[in-house]
Amino acid sequence: MSDRQELLRSLPAVDRVLQEAPLQALQQHLPQSVLTEAVQTVISGLRQQLLAEASSVAADQLKPLAIAERAAEHCQRTLQPSLRKVINASGTLLHTNLGRAPLAKAALQAITDVAAGYSNLELDLQAGQRGERFSHVEELLCQLTGAESALVVNNNAGAVLLALTALGKGREAIVSRGELVEIGGAFRIPEVMESGGVVLREVGSSNRTHLKDYQQAICEETALLLKVHTSNYRIVGFTKEVTARELAPLAQEHQLVLMEDLGSGMLQDLTAYGLLREPTVAETVAAGVDVVTFSGDKLLGGPQAGLIVGRKVLIEKIKRHPLARALRIDKLTLAALEATLRLYLNPQQALQEIPVLKMFAADPLQQKLRCQQLLEQLQALNLPVELRLVEDISRVGGGAMPLAELPDWALEIAPQSGSVAELARRLRAASPAVVGRVQNDCLLINLRAVAETEIAELVRILTLACRGA
Ligand SMILES: *Cc1c(COP(=O)(O)O)cnc(C)c1O
Repeated sequence: MSDRQELLRSLPAVDRVLQEAPLQALQQHLPQSVLTEAVQTVISGLRQQLLAEASSVAADQLKPLAIAERAAEHCQRTLQPSLRKVINASGTLLHTNLGRAPLAKAALQAITDVAAGYSNLELDLQAGQRGERFSHVEELLCQLTGAESALVVNNNAGAVLLALTALGKGREAIVSRGELVEIGGAFRIPEVMESGGVVLREVGSSNRTHLKDYQQAICEETALLLKVHTSNYRIVGFTKEVTARELAPLAQEHQLVLMEDLGSGMLQDLTAYGLLREPTVAETVAAGVDVVTFSGDKLLGGPQAGLIVGRKVLIEKIKRHPLARALRIDKLTLAALEATLRLYLNPQQALQEIPVLKMFAADPLQQKLRCQQLLEQLQALNLPVELRLVEDISRVGGGAMPLAELPDWALEIAPQSGSVAELARRLRAASPAVVGRVQNDCLLINLRAVAETEIAELVRILTLACRGA
């Protein structure tokens, strides 16, 4: 009898493996069928391996306990949530892949309050009648932006699609060639217009568009003049852009809708904190734009949402469009958005309590001190890595302010043995996961987007990962 046959015969029965302690311990957490399937998977894997290359399997691997341990590992992975917490040490504050803006405490509380029970989502408590879900944020948005009316939907891509469809379907919208933006994730302005049934009328060139270009393109079919904020790139050099303020009289003269997709949409000016000068939503409304759209989870620092503010007659038309129902905002998002907007009523409070605003406003010297403290904590542990404090640049991200650079500091980690990629992989596999930045064969840990409450956990995970665990 060959070795192979002997080994094949020594594979234990599934029931025998299920008796082992690691699987017995999981019986409370997982149904028997899941445990059985995990054991079957491991056993059939071993059988295949034996048939293919018997010498690659050690006899120890076939013991019931060894098989049970591997099956239990499978099961543990099933128990772990797939969507989980990440500590963002990348230095990019609004990372779309990392869920953009962390929420303010008030927003979290609002979600909990509304999620746990019932709410007056569409009930007017005063009148005892059916109400509108937009009513919870409409007045706030009008107050913060100076607009007459407002509504909110699922996200800004949805807001743009909805507004264009409701106001321009079957007719033309004039857009400058310099503003035919692609946001990523296949959101391109020309394609959004096409799916909304709006005919795109491009004017000007990539770098220069003049008021007369818009003037000459206006015809019977024109419904809108559309401006799109070039939020993820800049055209520099020999350029000419027509501002919303210049376009407003033209739109009025021809009874057209002037719409602007602001993308990020700041509610308060952050130039003082090293961010570039960009018009706030209120300034855009004041310039005479009829409909303004922007995101809830970019510079605003709230949940994913699309905000639409503007003239009452137009907003009413948008609210009544069937697509508004398809794109409607969920109650948890609405709760978080209302709480975040409420913080903006007091600009000082907004800066202190909205996490992304606080991160923008963080003092680089303070950041240096935090990195220094982290460095010292890790140095005291004698880890097998080289540690250095280095100058770094933090970025806004999330397709907002591509040129904005926030001077910053970072901790540079270079393993004495093993690769940086392996260190980065171990950090990503940790719980919570840690995402840093690999640069010049080193791992950079930037603390701008790391909360004070996350530091202890970060130290624990860095320690384990640096030791190769
Ligand atoms: C980000 C962005 C969008 C899309 O907003 P989401 O909230 O991600 O859907 C649309 N237009 C512009 C100009 C943007 O910057």
